[in-house]
Amino acid sequence: MKEQLLDTLKQYFGYHSFRPLQEEIITSILKKNDTLVLMPTGGGKSICYQIPALIMEGTAVIVSPLISLMKDQVENLRANGIAAQALNSSNDETTNANLRLQCLQGKVKLLYISPERLLSELPFLLKDIKISLFAIDEAHCISQWGHDFRPEYTQLNILRKHFPDIPIVALTATADKITRLDILEQLNMRSPQIFISSFDRPNLSLAVKRGLRQDEKLHAILHFIARHEKECGIIYCMSRSTSEKLTNILQKHGIKAAAYHAGLQGKEREKAQEDFINDRIQVVCATVAFGMGIDKSNVRWVIHYNLPKSIESFYQEIGRAGRDGLPGETLLFYSLSDIILLTKFAAQSKQQQLNMEKLYRMQQYAEANICRRRILMNYFGETMEEDCHNCDVCKNPPERFDGTVTVQKALSAIARTNEQIGVHTLINILRGTAEQEVIRNGFDKLKTYGVGRDIPVYDWKVYLLQMLNLGYFEIAYNENNRLKITDSGRKVLFGQARAMLVVVKHSQEQYNASRKPQVKVTKSPADSSVFPKQTEENDALFEKLRALRKELADRQRIPPYIVLSDKCLHLIATSKPETIEEFEKISGIGEYKKEKYGKDFIELIRKFNKH
Ligand code: ADP
Ligand code: ZN
Repeated sequence: MKEQLLDTLKQYFGYHSFRPLQEEIITSILKKNDTLVLMPTGGGKSICYQIPALIMEGTAVIVSPLISLMKDQVENLRANGIAAQALNSSNDETTNANLRLQCLQGKVKLLYISPERLLSELPFLLKDIKISLFAIDEAHCISQWGHDFRPEYTQLNILRKHFPDIPIVALTATADKITRLDILEQLNMRSPQIFISSFDRPNLSLAVKRGLRQDEKLHAILHFIARHEKECGIIYCMSRSTSEKLTNILQKHGIKAAAYHAGLQGKEREKAQEDFINDRIQVVCATVAFGMGIDKSNVRWVIHYNLPKSIESFYQEIGRAGRDGLPGETLLFYSLSDIILLTKFAAQSKQQQLNMEKLYRMQQYAEANICRRRILMNYFGETMEEDCHNCDVCKNPPERFDGTVTVQKALSAIARTNEQIGVHTLINILRGTAEQEVIRNGFDKLKTYGVGRDIPVYDWKVYLLQMLNLGYFEIAYNENNRLKITDSGRKVLFGQARAMLVVVKHSQEQYNASRKPQVKVTKSPADSSVFPKQTEENDALFEKLRALRKELADRQRIPPYIVLSDKCLHLIATSKPETIEEFEKISGIGEYKKEKYGKDFIELIRKFNKH
């Protein structure tokens, strides 16, 4: 049995071993158990139902919520020589008629279908064909508790009744306990086998930058992108206008970028998405609307231009990087103004308390001075025994100092203005800036005016963020964002308690903020310690391989990552196969791809080696 599974894995997908839980899940499905699979994005869920579909007799029916997701899956399978089809409203009637015929003839191993279509086909097609299994992808859509609730999904509860003997497999990357139970109940799963894999994505590095000004942020982003020359990434922005402004600026710096948000025409959005998938643009500046429909495996980095509203959203969004298992770099920008705005949104939302709490947890993550991955995993109910060594806190542990005097200066300035000022004015008072509002209100006569002149503006911002998170003052969001000292703040102010602050570290990027970024920096720093390169890879060869992949992709009108994943391409670049036997050994090369692409790649490598 084990042999057969491994053979199927190698033959069709070109992989040599299963990832954790995959084999157990496949075995459970083959035993016709109803099965619930929880795995993080990029964890390898698809193979869990695709291998049973290939081994079992009949057609596997896969319910998927989005046409773009279906398209991606079907392209991927067909690129491995597997008979997969999608039945949905984007096909014309002739295509669908043909497709039905193929299903009836038993020629389709995997049939992707939208939930509406599934219901309408129940009395027809689905009655007439032999079904091996049902897979419900993105199964959290069935639950009102999940974040992508889709009413059509709730009608899937009739499957169990109509098909008592066919196993149902539900798969999702995001489901808390309530959602999980909801999925089981709503699908009427019987004695379900539940598999929950670790949600850790060790290949994603984590970093946070606090309190940067707009121009500093921009500088940091240009610097970051320069390190990721030719590597695709997403920048998530809070507002549509930011995503557009940022896109313009990037374009002016010669970076191929596009904006993506709900305010754009459907066509424009589609184009941005297609261009990104097909490596025609490098960067998408998007609002949260982007990503649900794409399975692009070679997104190499994700930046959050603003703080996300919850850890769930954050984790899902960074999860779009590094799905192929290669390093993905992530960076989160975090500022006081984000908090002020997001708190306002949360306060005005329906589930006010819940949303405030979620935002607070997100804020704690951003302010963390312990391993960030431990915080994330802990949030999702997993505990890590050790630090991750792939987040900025681990790599650069914070140093603390006794910041009592600093805190007292700030709090005293707040007190002396009768708690009427916001952060901006507070910093101006501390720094002794002759700004209009300061002068007009006579704040320049205060005893605290200028007492914090020795501390740069940026450092003050970071200290104030720390003070906010330590609970020394609050921001009255409903009163013009004025600052109010809390009880614990008062204790520090009156010398009854000491305050420990984290030393502000200045990266080179901040000092250079006014200068133009140097564009050529060393390649992605992403963790040679975690992912050591086995053999030195030749950059020139890699670029040639990449170009060949693009050519092959364009010829077939499919995205490059579907021809071969980035990981596979790197493996070819390091192992430099010169024969078909060597080529076949590479992870990710199944029989179909060996036949289809082997010759072209080998020829390129032979030529390259001769030079
Ligand atoms: P998910 O649906 O969970 O987000 P996918 O099924 O798309 O993830 O898998 C993510 C990536 O991992 C794909 O490129 C897939 O081919 C690859 N993958 C899955 N299983 C294995 C395996 N056993 N060995 C190597 N790569 C794998
Ligand atoms: Zn860490």
